[in-house]
Amino acid sequence: MRSNLAIKTQGLTKQFGQTLAVNKLDLEIEAGQFYGLLGPNGAGKSTTIHMLTTMTAATSGDAWIADQLVADDPVAIRRTVGLVFQDSALDRTMTIDENLQFAAAMYNLSPSEADSRIDELMSVFKLEKKRHQKLVALSGGQRRAVDIARGVLHKPKVLFLDEPTIGLDLPNRRSIWRFVDQLRRDEGMTVFLTTHYLEEAAACDHVDFIQEGSLQIGGAPSELVKQLAEYVLEIDTLEPENITAQLTPLFGAPIQEEQQLSFKIAASDVDFFELQKTLGDVVSSMQWRRPNLNDVYLWTICSPELGEAT
Ligand code: ADP
Repeated sequence: MRSNLAIKTQGLTKQFGQTLAVNKLDLEIEAGQFYGLLGPNGAGKSTTIHMLTTMTAATSGDAWIADQLVADDPVAIRRTVGLVFQDSALDRTMTIDENLQFAAAMYNLSPSEADSRIDELMSVFKLEKKRHQKLVALSGGQRRAVDIARGVLHKPKVLFLDEPTIGLDLPNRRSIWRFVDQLRRDEGMTVFLTTHYLEEAAACDHVDFIQEGSLQIGGAPSELVKQLAEYVLEIDTLEPENITAQLTPLFGAPIQEEQQLSFKIAASDVDFFELQKTLGDVVSSMQWRRPNLNDVYLWTICSPELGEAT
């Protein structure tokens, strides 16, 4: 029976020698979703993408893309997915048009299909005037846009973006996201994202945090933020152990990053004036603010209950 799932995995596992890179991953991602898999370096994000896109075989477990079992027909899967990796697949000595024509031939698009698709994508990515320029002459943001154009040339059902904006400045990152949004709107593509910039993942419909190959928590970013805490109290201090000892009984254990402590609080928990008086001079600054996805990440990955920061 056909499901509405773009991606499904059941117990998907990858072992490299002694390293358990991905551990019994169970995912269900609906068609059309903007999905984010988040976690520190070495957590298993790229290995997951590699298994889903037939670049590496799973040690055990199963994966389906648009209801096709990945292990059954790798060639069909490669036609169903688009891939954009951190390392560009483009030849910088060739023009945009040459690069995309070359990729189109690999997808068996006819010359006229290729031409009209490249036209369309040049317009989405605002590269019409650059089509016959060599990649060396483009900015980093424009080259990334061409990478994505190459990834979606064959109108994949699922687009995998592995750290797509790494190394780009903020304006370029923003425009890459505008392009991806437009592709999602126009073509109903499912997008599977990994990123270090968690503010970008806030736009996802659903994110999962992964650590040491295992899923930790997942949900809609706004829900995860809401569930974390009402507020975060940040204290800069030269005596973090002292402050931790004083405040842990009140608010629970904090996250410590060098000389900054973060506590989860409800606004009603705290009389800031009193707190400042009690803690005295060892506090160099104190502020409270609403949490965000970065806080969810920190509390998941560096949670005091888990022991230590990675
Ligand atoms: P992430 O993408 O989250 O940074 P990876 O999926 O690249 O993490 O890596 C997960 C774990 O698997 C890491 O411990 C990494 O060193 C290991 N790993 C990844 N690829 C290989 C490989 N080809 N051979 C051996 N170990 C690997």
